[in-house]
Amino acid sequence: MGLDEIKRRVAAAEQAAGRAAGAVTLIAVSKVQPDARVTAVLDAGHRTFGENYVQEAQGKWPGWRDAYDGVSVHMIGPLQSNKAKPAVALFDAIHTLDRMSLARKLAQQVTEQGRSPQLFVQVNTGDEPQKAGILADELPGFLTSCRDLGLTPEGLMCIPPEGEDPVPHFRLLRRLAEENGLPKLSMGMSADFEAAIAEGATHIRVGSAIFGARDYG
Ligand SMILES: *Cc1c(COP(=O)(O)O)cnc(C)c1O
Repeated sequence: MGLDEIKRRVAAAEQAAGRAAGAVTLIAVSKVQPDARVTAVLDAGHRTFGENYVQEAQGKWPGWRDAYDGVSVHMIGPLQSNKAKPAVALFDAIHTLDRMSLARKLAQQVTEQGRSPQLFVQVNTGDEPQKAGILADELPGFLTSCRDLGLTPEGLMCIPPEGEDPVPHFRLLRRLAEENGLPKLSMGMSADFEAAIAEGATHIRVGSAIFGARDYG
């Protein structure tokens, strides 16, 4: 279990970047991991987790929320509009608000359930045709539309293109957040979280470096 090592590296990266200790929220991405690995991290005192699939999260987290105080679960995977209802019920944050149809469904559920998960807008920083996310040019208009629906996005999220230097993408995301008055930045994974912290990440999403490799078999 790599939790202690990752926490140590996060603290070192915060310090190296001249940021306050604890400025970065470490989201332990537990998707697809065996239960025993997740409970080991819970037993070690960690409380913030990330999941990619609504159904998987629904099966795991209600029980662990009962067993452990103060658990917070973040949705970091693509969210189908027809899963907006369970997603609003289950998650404390949603990092993947990436289109108007989803914004409408989330707004409806926030009103119906009286529950408002923290929202991040996913930005397609690499302009990749196959990737989810709002294009940089379209972000101001998208944020206005979200606010018109009564939603209050607090930050931006990105997944840089595979095989590219992630730093220009982290910088773009930071600039967009500043220009749009958003205080939170969800960026950085196992391979690049230290670079993301140097560029201002407030939330990093680290899976395999904490839990070990995922087995999708
Ligand atoms: C799976 C996943 C992660 C964690 O990836 P690791 O490389 O295991 O740290 C982070 N962000 C998103 C969006 C993911 O889907």
